[in-house]
Amino acid sequence: MQFREADAFHEECGIFGVTGNRDAASLTYLGLYALQHRGQESAGIVTWDGETAFQHRAMGLANHVFDEDILRSLAGSVGIGHVRYSTTGQSQLMNAQPSLVRFRGGWLAAAHNGNLVDSANLRTRLESAGSIFRTTTDTETILHLVARAYARRPAGEEADKAELLAEALRGVQGAYSIVFMMDGCLVAARDPRGYRPLCFGRVKNGGWAVASESCGLDIVDARVEREVEPGEIVIFEPEGPRSHKMDAAGAPESFCIFEYIYFLRPDSVVRGVSVDTVRRELGRSLAREKPADADIVISVPDSSNAAAAGYAEESGIPLEFGLIRNHYIGRTFIHPKQSLRDYKVRIKYNPVADTLAGKRVVVVDDSIVRGTTSQKLMDMIRRAGAAEVHLRIASPPIRFPCFYGSDTPTRGELVASSKEVAEIAEFIGVDSLGYLSLDGLLASVPGSSESYCVACFDGSYPHESVIKEAATSAAGRAEG
Ligand code: SF4
Repeated sequence: MQFREADAFHEECGIFGVTGNRDAASLTYLGLYALQHRGQESAGIVTWDGETAFQHRAMGLANHVFDEDILRSLAGSVGIGHVRYSTTGQSQLMNAQPSLVRFRGGWLAAAHNGNLVDSANLRTRLESAGSIFRTTTDTETILHLVARAYARRPAGEEADKAELLAEALRGVQGAYSIVFMMDGCLVAARDPRGYRPLCFGRVKNGGWAVASESCGLDIVDARVEREVEPGEIVIFEPEGPRSHKMDAAGAPESFCIFEYIYFLRPDSVVRGVSVDTVRRELGRSLAREKPADADIVISVPDSSNAAAAGYAEESGIPLEFGLIRNHYIGRTFIHPKQSLRDYKVRIKYNPVADTLAGKRVVVVDDSIVRGTTSQKLMDMIRRAGAAEVHLRIASPPIRFPCFYGSDTPTRGELVASSKEVAEIAEFIGVDSLGYLSLDGLLASVPGSSESYCVACFDGSYPHESVIKEAATSAAGRAEG
C-alpha cells in the first residue's frame, strides 16, 4: 500500500510552459519542481525544436522522472510540462501529461489542470462521430475539439490560433487552466470562471513562462507579468503575449477558494495577495470566531503553519512546534496488514512530548475530510501528554465533493456530510472543535465573495449539470 494522504483534498495538477529560451526543457523541469505540491504521481515534458516535438513522461516525482540525459534529449526553445495527482489507478502512465498528438495543423500538445464537468457527454459525442481515445483524461477530449475546429477551416488557410482555441473551447464546461504547444507556439488558456490559477511572466534571461502558481515563475527567475484572466487565451508570439477573450468571458468568476486554504504554496502570490498572508488572516478570523482557553497553539505542519501563526497572533497564546513532519516519506510503502496501518500517520508526524506534556493545546488544521487522520493525530497528541486538545479548523465543514479538479472522496465519506460539529468532535476525540464560518472564510480572502467557488462547503455548484451529477454520482472524483 503506497502512503498517500488519503484523508485530504488533493490538487490534481500543476502546469508550466516556456517559450523563447534555449533551455526550455531545463526551465520546464525547474517549474515542475516548484509545482510538485500540485501533483506527485506523474510528470512529463514536451518540447519543440522548430521541426519536431519531443516528449518524456513517467510515473513519479519530477526529480525521479528526469535526469540530465533526458533533459538534454528534449531539444528546443519551447516546452510545456505537467505534474499530475492521479486517482483513477488504471493505466496511469497512459494518462500522464502533457498529451502530444500530430494533426492537420502540425504538432499539438496540452497540459491541463482542472476537470470538465461535461466530459462524458463530450466524449460520447466525439466517439459517435468516430473519434478514438487512448486515455481517460479530459485533455485528450480538448485535443480532439481543437483538431475538429481546425478541420472546419478551408484547407491551406492559415488559422488564427486564438480563434481556433476559442472555437474549440466554446461550450466546454468546467474547470480548465491549460498550456498548449501548437506547432511550436506556446498558448495559455483559462476557463471563463477561472477555477484554477494560472499566471505568466518574462524570464530574465530570455522568453516567457506560464505557471499554475507564481512560485513556478520565481524558480526560473521570471518576473510575474500578470494572471491569465478568466476566459482569456494568451498567445506567446515572437513580439510578446497577445490576449484574446473567449465568447463566454464575463461569466461570473468562481475561483476555487480551497486553493487558498490548502492547495497553493504559501510563497505564491495569487489575486495580488500572498497565500501566506491569506492563511494568517484565516487563522486570525478563526481565533476571533472560535477562541479557546489554552496554553499553546500548534499547527498540523506544513499547510496549517500560517493559519496557526495567525491564530496565535490574534489570541495572544504562544505558538509552539508540537508536531514534527517528516518531509522525506516520498513513495513509502506500508504493508497492507491492518495492524500496520496505524503507522501511516506516525510515518508523517511525530509529537514533541516536552512541548505538549501537561499543556492545554489548540491544534490548528486547514480542513477535515474523512476525519480519520485527525482522529489519529489528536490521539497521538494526547498520548504525548497534552492535558486538553482543542481542534480549530481554518475552513468550514466540507459537506460536498468537488467536480472541478480536486480529488475528493464521495459525499458519504466526508465526515461533515452526516455528522454535526459536536458529533465530529466526539468521533475525533477532542475536548472542543471549532470551524471557521463560511462568512469568516469569505471575509478573509481577497476580492468579492461572489468571485469564489465554495461548493464543497455549501453545495452551490456553479454548473447546474454538476448539481444533478452530485445528487446521483457515487464517484465524485476528478480526473485531470
Ligand atoms: S468545490 Fe471546493 S475544491 Fe472544488 S472548486 Fe469549488 S471550492 Fe474548490
